[in-house]
Amino acid sequence: MYDLHCHSTCSDGQLSPADLVRRARERHVEVLALTDHDTLNGLPDAAATAAEVGIRLIPGIEFSCRWEGRGVHVVGLNFDPEHPQLLQAVAQQEQTRWERAQLIGEKLAKLGIEGAFEGACRLAGEGGMVGRPHFAQYLVEQGRVADIDGAFKRYLGTGKPGDVKQSWPVMEEAIGWIRAAGGLAVLAHPDKYKVTRTRLRAMVEEFRDVGGEGIEVVSGNQNTNVTRDMQQLATRYGLLASCGSDFHFPGQSWQDLGVMPPLPENCTPVWERF
Ligand code: MN
Ligand code: MN
Ligand code: MN
Repeated sequence: MYDLHCHSTCSDGQLSPADLVRRARERHVEVLALTDHDTLNGLPDAAATAAEVGIRLIPGIEFSCRWEGRGVHVVGLNFDPEHPQLLQAVAQQEQTRWERAQLIGEKLAKLGIEGAFEGACRLAGEGGMVGRPHFAQYLVEQGRVADIDGAFKRYLGTGKPGDVKQSWPVMEEAIGWIRAAGGLAVLAHPDKYKVTRTRLRAMVEEFRDVGGEGIEVVSGNQNTNVTRDMQQLATRYGLLASCGSDFHFPGQSWQDLGVMPPLPENCTPVWERF
């Protein structure tokens, strides 16, 4: 059982890397990739626990990048986590995240919401990567909105007063970092970008043309028809197939560790290259 996409407290997940690995083991995952957003901070602890409980850990990351003006996510798998170019890129992404978080804090302060940057950093925790979900949590905590969804609808979502456009790298750049470190670049959850089928094909084609090697044919506990569509995309563009839960926290049955349909028979799994 492979699960090649999940998050810990080092980005926006709720379990520590060690607890995440233990939960994966309990849920019969044999090969796990921890793919926190734009950070490698969780990998040492995850690797130590993986060795202890007898699970194979693949180094992973989920890079935020952009394609034709919209955000897309590229998962890197099975790279050298000490590669200098990769480390430098991660430091750069981290800096970009901090700058954005500061700007979001300033925008919210202009609306009379004080302490949002500090609050979001506190919620992100030590070694955590601050992001919009932490601002959303802060807004809930402060009673500004009823729930996380409300925070995005009123303050943080696209076009809302606390929305800050982030200067993420282009897809090609993130793929380059992963490949430089000897890893495989996988387009994350292609079905979740709200684009037309034509645009999605264009995205996948460009992804492949600039060095991407796989796509997530299975992302979480998805419908059969989605799996079939994604498999067809993989076949059409000659890409390897990956699968991952995109687990963030317990209690979401559609995104739990190891919970997902199997890859279709006619796919070439990405792990054939591990
Ligand atoms: Mn996330
Ligand atoms: Mn993602
Ligand atoms: Mn993810």
